[in-house]
Amino acid sequence: MGLIVQKFGGTSVADSQKILRAARKAIRAKQQGNRVVMVVSAMGHNTDMLIALAKEINERPPAREMDMLLSTGEQVSVALMAMAIESLGHRAVSLTGGQIGIRTDSTHTKARILSISTERMHRLLDEGNIVIAAGFQGIDEQFNITTLGRGGSDTTAVALAAVLRADACEIYTDVDGVFTTDPRVVPEARRVDRIGYDEMLELASLGAGVMHNRSIEFAKKYGVSIHVRSSVSDAPGTLIEATPESRDAPVCGAAVTKDEARVTLTGVPDVPGTSHEIFSRIAARHVTVDMIVQNVGAEGRANISFTVPRDELAVTLEAVAAACEPWGHVEVGHDVEVAKVSVVGLGMARQTGVAHTMFGAIADAGINIQMITTSEIKISVLVDRSLAHAALRAVHTRFALDQPPPSLADPNGERHPPSPNAADVVMRLRDAAMEHLAISDVSLDDSQARVTIIGVPDQPGLASRVFRGVAEAGVFVDMIVQSYKGKNGKARLSFTVPRRQIDSALAVTARLQADCGFEALSSSPSVAKLSVSGIGLHSHTGVAIRMFRALAEIGVNVAMISTSEVRVNVVVSAEDGERGLKALQEAFADARL
Ligand code: ADP
Ligand code: ASP
Ligand code: MG
Repeated sequence: MGLIVQKFGGTSVADSQKILRAARKAIRAKQQGNRVVMVVSAMGHNTDMLIALAKEINERPPAREMDMLLSTGEQVSVALMAMAIESLGHRAVSLTGGQIGIRTDSTHTKARILSISTERMHRLLDEGNIVIAAGFQGIDEQFNITTLGRGGSDTTAVALAAVLRADACEIYTDVDGVFTTDPRVVPEARRVDRIGYDEMLELASLGAGVMHNRSIEFAKKYGVSIHVRSSVSDAPGTLIEATPESRDAPVCGAAVTKDEARVTLTGVPDVPGTSHEIFSRIAARHVTVDMIVQNVGAEGRANISFTVPRDELAVTLEAVAAACEPWGHVEVGHDVEVAKVSVVGLGMARQTGVAHTMFGAIADAGINIQMITTSEIKISVLVDRSLAHAALRAVHTRFALDQPPPSLADPNGERHPPSPNAADVVMRLRDAAMEHLAISDVSLDDSQARVTIIGVPDQPGLASRVFRGVAEAGVFVDMIVQSYKGKNGKARLSFTVPRRQIDSALAVTARLQADCGFEALSSSPSVAKLSVSGIGLHSHTGVAIRMFRALAEIGVNVAMISTSEVRVNVVVSAEDGERGLKALQEAFADARL
């Protein structure tokens, strides 16, 4: 007899008929001989409605009371689901997060799961019940109700599947599976049969709202394979597991986030430790920072830009003001009319030309790129919010994402077990809190060089021209960072290439200089890239900060940074490589897997 976790999202339980339909699915699984745990979200737009109600009363409602309020949405739907199952002649018991024993930390509205007790669920299952768990909620040490963040019922479902060692984790939703991008925005989007954890994790964090990003971290950490499927049809859906659909496709999906804001600090002191000061103050407010771009400016002053969730802009600006106070005049600008458009793919790390294809698609749509950051498996650009969907469509079309990838992994070939050493990992993590940071590697790559173009005019098409030229010269680009424009209206574009290709890269940029109106070029024939890899990096804002602190303490300046869900990279000068590596190894010793 198997154990199945079935999660139903808000639209799948939006009214009584839909609740009954979900109940029948669970009963069918039970009749097929399985033990069934359901995880249920709040009905329809109930959570949105509760948030709006709270804001009518208090513009910045206390987080603890928000959790008290929002958790009621799920409590309503689990009770109704239990009644539905009962009415269909089967036994069911609904449980809140607290009643199950889902222990979290006390970070209200985005709490992390520390532990889950399985005893009560097992007992109820043994007695022949379908167990119905309220998604998205837990309880802290003082018995305060906490919630896991918007979309967090997915995380509840995968976490329960992990601790119960479920045979299947089914996520029922209002689309047929995971698509190459949001099918409601780009109707030509294609459903993928299978997607790997790392790609799904990036996509989810970059705006693919179909799965909560932390649910994928759980799945990866504990080796849970997830089946995303429609709650209304029996369509095959999408498997999220260790093996992706294709390892060769440069891009497997695209996503857009429209709920971020850009913050730019102009004129911060250009000495080691300033980034640490800024980002640690922001992290203390539990704000997740993305797209960090810093640039050495003139006269010992630097500029730093980054994005944060829009509804956390106010606290971010408070934290920034406090950090900047001792530094005299620092100008702090921000913009909420921005959107981040990203592409993700395992294959891009091994191919030239992916960046230029993306930038070219956006340029041809006449859209200006305000900032660029990349990691090994993603490229993100910041554009004007009103142009975000046009940019997304252009990119989706240019990468032919509506077509199956050129070389599909053999669908009948060897299927990896959920995770190479899942059982081993679970053993090692047994005593740690479930969502704690887990570092798998700290490394140094000293095989690269850096090129920086100073004074890039703020107009569409320039990044596209640079990377087309670089790709045509056969140069392999790794990290790309383009800053937000400075006071002179011009940006700075930096990228790293293999050391042996620096001359070719410089020749291309020199050739473009006059034509594109670049002010100057600078380069470094050898740089050191320091990387920290693991699980839980991005949503633990602390990782980049720990890196900044460890490097600042030994007086090492960070020239470039790129962050992703699985890796944070910083570029420092070549002579600081070995020292930096040692400092980072020490800084992360306690979080090693
Ligand atoms: P649920 O209530 O079931 O949790 P969500 O609204 O959270 O459902 O997630 C499903 C929605 O995610 C879809 O309706 C779709 O609009 C959106 N979405 C965004 N990106 C993707 C994608 N890449 N694939 C599928 N759906 C996506
Ligand atoms: N009800 C919560 C939300 O709307 C959690 C969830 O649906 O996953 O965000
Ligand atoms: Mg959801």
